[in-house]
Amino acid sequence: MQQADVLIVGAGPAGSATALGLLAAGCKRVVLVDHASARPVAAGESATPDVSAMLGALGLETDLGRLGHAPCQGTVSLWGSDEPSFDYFLARGRGHGWHLRRKEFDAWLRHEAQQRGAVLLSPARLMACETLESGWRVKVGSRTDASLTEIRARVLVDAGGRRAPLATSLGAHLREMDSLVALAMLTDSAPALAGLSLVESFAHGWWYAAGLPGGKTMVMLMTDRDLAKACNFHEPAVYLDTWRATRRLAAMVPPTETGVIAPFAAHSAFLDRAAGPGWIAVGDALLAMDPLTSSGIAGALSDAQAAVLAIVAQLAADDAPSRAYAERANRNLVAYVDGLRHHYSRECRWMESPFWARRQTRKEG
Ligand SMILES: Cc1cc2nc3c(=O)[nH]c(=O)nc-3n(C[C@H](O)[C@H](O)[C@H](O)COP(=O)(O)OP(=O)(O)OC[C@H]3O[C@@H](n4cnc5c(N)ncnc54)[C@H](O)[C@@H]3O)c2cc1C
Repeated sequence: MQQADVLIVGAGPAGSATALGLLAAGCKRVVLVDHASARPVAAGESATPDVSAMLGALGLETDLGRLGHAPCQGTVSLWGSDEPSFDYFLARGRGHGWHLRRKEFDAWLRHEAQQRGAVLLSPARLMACETLESGWRVKVGSRTDASLTEIRARVLVDAGGRRAPLATSLGAHLREMDSLVALAMLTDSAPALAGLSLVESFAHGWWYAAGLPGGKTMVMLMTDRDLAKACNFHEPAVYLDTWRATRRLAAMVPPTETGVIAPFAAHSAFLDRAAGPGWIAVGDALLAMDPLTSSGIAGALSDAQAAVLAIVAQLAADDAPSRAYAERANRNLVAYVDGLRHHYSRECRWMESPFWARRQTRKEG
């Protein structure tokens, strides 16, 4: 049986950053398990300016331009009015963010973790885990072999994304705050966005667009799951008509029929426990944020930093995860819910529409 100090389920940004932080803190035996999604389109391509500093703290390249990503200067939004408002990171003294080639970004973080000593098992998934007197016995399987390997680990990390596969299997509960979905299309339109992301609200939700390095543009229609179905937004003709009806988006990114429409779950959700005896959750598994915030990657890296401290303390003292980590998670959740409510409440033009009405009255669970 393999031995690990820490086994991390999920090698997205949160999992890889946790592995990198643990290795930097002197933890030698770190295993990452990832089932390797085969989705053709990756969502989540705008990184806020603080991401660079967090990468630097992990000893990684901070100038992502050197890795083929492009600067993102901020956001232009039509929100609450038809007048565009420009929010430049620089004007807030925050430098610039990035428009990422997202698959490459995630693969780079994984690769760096491996280079520094993490063991990556992929494609592989957690099949079962059993508590031992000190730590866990974990069974990891693949699509073809349900008992690929067994690993004995002292601490487990749930970095498995918004379904929190490990924490929920250990009895924690996910609380979903809404049913937002993203219908994403990658187009070949020439990006006229000049390094800005675009957000434009409409009666049933909002649109997002960003020019990606390499000339493609990511366009997303965000709405609630039931409204997507009722309005047939996943039908290409309806999707394109709704896009054509936008004020600024259609002018800057002309609707084209080149791409497929890829749906993504984009609801806000949080775990009722940030950690338990011998386990801890990070990234979307802990708090999955509305893409409106463009903060999921920064949140994942920040959770990883905090989790490393808690895990190292736990490995040293063979103790329960720190209370400080749970308190931090609660503070983040409260700030997130307040901020999101405030932002959505600034759009009052379609109060008769279920999408906007729900967001004026929503109560967290
Ligand atoms: C439509 C949309 C747009 C977004 N836009 C942005 C944006 O512009 N900017 C931003 O910062 N964030 C954005 N986000 C959020 C951002 O993508 C996430 O917050 C970020 O990816 C979280 O990283 P993570 O490592 O926690 O989870 P993930 O990136 O989801 O990684 C989880 C990993 O776990 C693996 N996994 C899952 N289950 C298992 C299992 N059972 N066994 C093994 N492996 C498993 C998966 O294969 C995956 O590699 C967006 C999200 C959505 C849905």
